[in-house]
Amino acid sequence: MPLFSRRQWLAGAIAAPTLLSIGARAGSASAEGPFTLGVASGDPEPDGIVLWTRLAPRPLEGDGGMPPHEVPVRWEVAEDERFARLVRFGDARAEARWGHSVHVEVTGLAPGRPYYYRFIAQGIASPVGRTRTAPAPGAAVDRLRICYGSCQKYEVGYYAAWRHAVEEDPDLILFLGDYIYEGAPSPGGVRMHLNPEPMDLAGYRVRYATYKLDALLQAAHATAPWAVTWDDHEVANDYANDLDENNGERAPFLLRRAAAYQAYWEHMPLRRRSRPHGAAMQLYRTLDWGRLAQFQIIDDRQFRSGHPCQPADLLPAHKKYLPLVPDCAERHDPRRTILGSTQEDWLHRALGSSRAQWNLLSQQTLMTSYARLDADHPDEGARLYSADTWGGYPAARERILRRWRDAHTPNPLVLSGDIHAFAASDMADPDDDKRILASEFVGGSITSLFHDATFKRSTLLNPGFRFAENEIKGYGRIDLTPGRCDVAFRGLADARDVNSAISTIASFVVEAGRPGMVAA
Ligand code: FE
Ligand code: CA
Repeated sequence: MPLFSRRQWLAGAIAAPTLLSIGARAGSASAEGPFTLGVASGDPEPDGIVLWTRLAPRPLEGDGGMPPHEVPVRWEVAEDERFARLVRFGDARAEARWGHSVHVEVTGLAPGRPYYYRFIAQGIASPVGRTRTAPAPGAAVDRLRICYGSCQKYEVGYYAAWRHAVEEDPDLILFLGDYIYEGAPSPGGVRMHLNPEPMDLAGYRVRYATYKLDALLQAAHATAPWAVTWDDHEVANDYANDLDENNGERAPFLLRRAAAYQAYWEHMPLRRRSRPHGAAMQLYRTLDWGRLAQFQIIDDRQFRSGHPCQPADLLPAHKKYLPLVPDCAERHDPRRTILGSTQEDWLHRALGSSRAQWNLLSQQTLMTSYARLDADHPDEGARLYSADTWGGYPAARERILRRWRDAHTPNPLVLSGDIHAFAASDMADPDDDKRILASEFVGGSITSLFHDATFKRSTLLNPGFRFAENEIKGYGRIDLTPGRCDVAFRGLADARDVNSAISTIASFVVEAGRPGMVAA
């Protein structure tokens, strides 16, 4: 017995906006019915993909305007955008306790090719999304195009970056953290958050809905599969494991973190293996693209040691931590971890076993060693370290660098977000500073701001940095072939303009077998 009559199905299909019509609109999506938040796909495998949507006819309510029971959702995968050649379909359940989100793990698809998908619920068809399976394991792959972004604070810009990313026709989009910002509504930007700072599940759902109602963000999800990781703002600014930035009580913060992790899972195209259990969520994973590339996608928030070099009185007094600190012995303590020992052991195994030509560590925060000037006293020459990036965890960074070296990991690269800037740097062997092992490319921010007149000067005082730009917003584009990696930093003329133009502000080449970048 089909869930929907053919007549309902056709009516829905006709009413559904197409991929193109979503992409053409700016501002808020205005879909009627349950599919207000769009569709997405993610974590491609050679034989399958995860398809995502969330039923939310009134998305700015904590329950999405849905009844407190399970709702059936039909899903369809086709070879063509008109669904004439249907290859897979089935029925999923949207459960109330997971916010009526739907995560379908489709299998049985052919490797390395595009597919189209949609959902049907309550007699209405969703927008159509396009996705792509990964190439067959070990397959020779000529070319892979990735766009990657991070830090899309809703209030300070529009998502013109995503319009341009769609036009680049990437095979895969990586999102490297700060998908939402948790802050209270604040004036002065181009638009404002719609609910107070979220502290519980309903609040985080409304915050995700605020972002996901944006038509340009929906179009970016509908154009290609995404692989996502988070940073701090999906929960709270600069949190470290079970401590918030104010060194608050740990137990209530873990309850908040559990709510935030659940809302994250409910809104991302993630597999069931990532579904949270309370305040614990398995996000780190690898993603293989034939023999060409392996992405090691990591989580540097959930398991990290606390921020180093802090005045002793802050923690017991529940006072805000110091983000910038002078060097101290604790910073170098080899017992400090940014990944946690389980994830670090897993990563080191992956780096030792990958046979991919390129190995892309896909992660949140600036990894290259960076000592900065004191912005208040830039001419005094004192150096400060960010306690919140890998600068707070240098021993953990050095263990990865040595692992790349000793395991002969082919062509390691690092893709990063968080700092609201573009930056390109070569990373040297911690035991031989003349020997370059890898390059890091921080891909700007989609909108989020970082006004700091000393940033560029500071980065260029550190060995390895080749480029830094913190006033221009945008994303990174990577074209991989077996022989070379082409990196383009794509910068918007004005992220506050929904129709902003874009241009390449810097580009770099890394040749396979020759660590270190050259300007393109
Ligand atoms: Fe950010
Ligand atoms: Ca961040």
